[in-house]
Amino acid sequence: MTAMIERAGGPALRIPAARLLIDGDWCDGGDGRRIAVYDPATEERIAEVVAATASDVERAVQAAHRAFESAAWQKMRPLDRGRLLERLALLIERDADDLARLETLDNGKPFAVSRNVDMQFAIDALRYYGGWSSKMAGEYIQLSPLGEDGGTYRAYTERRPVGVVGGITPWNFPMGQAIQKMAPAIAFGCTVLLKPSEEASLTTLRLGELVLEAGFPEGTVNIVTGHGHEAGQALVDHPLVRKIAFTGSTATGQKILAASVKTMKRVTLELGGKSPTIVLADADLNVAIPGAANAIFPNSGQICTAGSRLLVEAPIYDEVVEGVAEIARGLKLGSGFDPSVQLGPLVSSGQLDRVSALVGQGIEEGAEPLCGGARAADKGYFYQPTVLGGGRTGMRVAQQEVFGPVVLAMPVLDAKEIRMLANDTAYGLGASIWTQDINKAHLLAAQLDCGTVWINTHNVLDLAMPFGGTKLSGLGREFGTEVIHAYTEPRAVCMRL
Ligand code: NAD
Repeated sequence: MTAMIERAGGPALRIPAARLLIDGDWCDGGDGRRIAVYDPATEERIAEVVAATASDVERAVQAAHRAFESAAWQKMRPLDRGRLLERLALLIERDADDLARLETLDNGKPFAVSRNVDMQFAIDALRYYGGWSSKMAGEYIQLSPLGEDGGTYRAYTERRPVGVVGGITPWNFPMGQAIQKMAPAIAFGCTVLLKPSEEASLTTLRLGELVLEAGFPEGTVNIVTGHGHEAGQALVDHPLVRKIAFTGSTATGQKILAASVKTMKRVTLELGGKSPTIVLADADLNVAIPGAANAIFPNSGQICTAGSRLLVEAPIYDEVVEGVAEIARGLKLGSGFDPSVQLGPLVSSGQLDRVSALVGQGIEEGAEPLCGGARAADKGYFYQPTVLGGGRTGMRVAQQEVFGPVVLAMPVLDAKEIRMLANDTAYGLGASIWTQDINKAHLLAAQLDCGTVWINTHNVLDLAMPFGGTKLSGLGREFGTEVIHAYTEPRAVCMRL
């Protein structure tokens, strides 16, 4: 079922075989077609995954549908669905080091991040959503009927699982994203088909092994690897899939939304961002400068909420921007398996080209590279942490998501300009405000058009806090109490007493 990869200086890594998980069994697919998997730090080919076809997706959707309709699943006690998620959490905890190594090999991120962020998030999310399984509740409603029939009318609502859920995920937090889709779906009684990114599918395949070990009923969790335009599209088009839970780029999210119209699917779309880090003149710079660097550079900038625009009040602009550049110059790049490394490579050559092109355009349009601005090694998809000064809001690099370790700094004059510039992108995912004046922070927070505003911190995502974006950053919310609406629908039952 699996192959081993020998790695100098570390334990051998178990690589999952190129298979699909359908109806509780591993099977072939893709009519024999495969997608090559590369180590982004070395550019070596390390594995392959199945390029699933529409007919593979058809089989998986049918399995998920059968499982959803089955008496066993419909009758399973909500607490027992929660127990399944808890069992999976325990298995991920048991294998967390191995899983984290596999994530680092596939995605490039430092092992400590894979272990302490990605795997820990997956474990926490399974427990968080497992707890939700027994908390589905409706309402009892007094009605005001029209007419004089003298009847007393009441209604109650119950929350019903939406049905088969397609979870389509990106490559930046592969395992975490897979769990983020699967765990609430299962908690609320849906069944699920996961389609991981073709750039990083390996940990989702290992997740499939653990799903089987945990004893999930067959067909409740299916995993289909493949290309977005083929396997992903087939999932979106399928009438038996009642909801798509998507995280990825805005361009793909728009395609999914348009295609969902045909079958009136429910969708949640967690898309791109161009989040500002706003440093006000009264900020504590001992906190704000490392905070601004930490808003952009972790995960090599491949975080949807990354603070990729640095808006700084003019009196402290030079000090803040130079401070962030100083931190960037000191960051150590290299293999994610080297414990002293802080930044790994970008995920793919395509991503490296995209980041290089956007930085190049920014410089052509007048931005000044204060540090970085180039590929960092001949081998591997490494890009230098980059600070561009002299930014203007019309530049392409100020408007388009870079999704790399690149921040564009812009001086701002006053409160009016801060609000205008902060909101002046098509995105609305996150923003952070750095100040010691908490009144000012709250007043500014109220004027920012985005899903999350952080004050004196950035990129804090918590399962208890709703998460999502406005404008082109997406539709709907995940996490927190909002998640119940994302995977269930109310059914009203009306009665005359
Ligand atoms: P992507 O849109 O290229 O791919 C995401 C997933 O969609 C992949 O699994 C891909 O195979 C699939 N896909 C592609 N075309 C499809 C189609 N036509 N139909 C169905 N599925 C299709 O995104 P990516 O490059 O993998 O990820 C990076 C993007 O994700 C960035 O824009 C980033 O901001 C965004 N992101 C957003 C969040 C958030 O929560 N808002 C979190 C992480 C990443």
